[in-house]
Amino acid sequence: MSTAEINTGTATVDAAHFETVLADAKATLARIAAEFSPAVFASSLAAEDMVLADLILRAKLPITIFTLETGRLHAETLGMVDRIRETYGYEVVLYKPEQAAVDAYVSANGLNAFYDSVEMRKECCRIRKVEPLNRALAGNKAWITGQRRAQSTTRSELAVQEDDAAHGMQKFNPLADWTEAEVWHYLKSNQVPYNPLHDKGYPSIGCEPCTRAIQPGEDVRAGRWWWENPESKECGLHVVDGKLIRIKSA
Ligand code: SF4
Repeated sequence: MSTAEINTGTATVDAAHFETVLADAKATLARIAAEFSPAVFASSLAAEDMVLADLILRAKLPITIFTLETGRLHAETLGMVDRIRETYGYEVVLYKPEQAAVDAYVSANGLNAFYDSVEMRKECCRIRKVEPLNRALAGNKAWITGQRRAQSTTRSELAVQEDDAAHGMQKFNPLADWTEAEVWHYLKSNQVPYNPLHDKGYPSIGCEPCTRAIQPGEDVRAGRWWWENPESKECGLHVVDGKLIRIKSA
């Protein structure tokens, strides 16, 4: 191991690359706060999102952090709202689905109809995630996500800044260039709290019935909607009229 590498225990981090992506992420967040206010951060409370929450809250940036409380999250994931309150004194804003829409879907199709087809799954995501997301984004100039390019086939062209025409605002992915090892190096070296499910084989965490642990060597998003093809594995947060929107780099 050269002196330019950091051994995290499970993977090696290139120190120079880490310093670069960390400085870039801090600069991106500062620029969002200065030039795109009001801005919001859509946190799923997973590892990447805890990096961003820590960077935002330590720097006291005027960026609102919210999460989509779908009604189907793991208790461990919801527990992260408490951990953030205890650690930073910050109250994450929760956006919940319209109860009438949930009730209509469940009574017509059943509680777990998302297993039946991609269409049923996307309709559940539309009710529990897309509609609440649209409410959360309304009135803002920019939104932030913790997506990384290396996470899956559907994210291989991810840019740090995108023109999100569907929502009429800029979308930022400050961790687009980060590796998984760099995320964990940041969390561990800064004592940032993280979802305990990550230690139980869940690298990617969504709703409880749609997420499973993965085996060593599997793609990090293999545990999300595992019964579907890799190409369809997005929650629809970038979908309009049932079609994936191609978001252009800004
Ligand atoms: S991830 Fe599963 S439970 Fe959650 S909104 Fe989508 S289909 Fe519904």
